[in-house]
Amino acid sequence: MFRIGTGYDIHKLTSGRDLIIGGVKITHEKGLLGHSDADVLIHAIIDAMLGALALSDIGTLFPDTDKKYKDIDSTVLLTKVYEKIKNLGWKIENIDSNIIAQKPKMMPYIPKMKEVLCRILEIEPERLSIKAKTKENLDAVGQELAIEANAVILLEKD
Ligand SMILES: [Zn+2]
Repeated sequence: MFRIGTGYDIHKLTSGRDLIIGGVKITHEKGLLGHSDADVLIHAIIDAMLGALALSDIGTLFPDTDKKYKDIDSTVLLTKVYEKIKNLGWKIENIDSNIIAQKPKMMPYIPKMKEVLCRILEIEPERLSIKAKTKENLDAVGQELAIEANAVILLEKD
């Protein structure tokens, strides 16, 4: 049987923070603001995974009121959620995702993101798609005030 899930996230860009997306540090004068490391792509993927199995969402599982998750590396959260779905007998058929950022260019970092995420999720690179888009200078993302990501996942169980 199959289950499909969708995830969305947005974080505000601010000075004095590292920009970490897809588990990779990106060279930029601003970073994303959040309780964790604010890895917008990983958060969208986590929500897609949880959504596929109707297991609530990232904010419920890792509340931002909990000091334990302050500045936490989102790859740690992804590992925990993947373990959860794996223990329930599910495996990942494929993931398709988008990072929407006006700046900086995401394309040079995508191979490394795929490497990091495929290792954690135990999938071949052909099963993970990460696409990069701009917002054509429109809205908050287009004005370089925020970065967005979304993801769709298909899970499979025998
Ligand atoms: Zn987030």
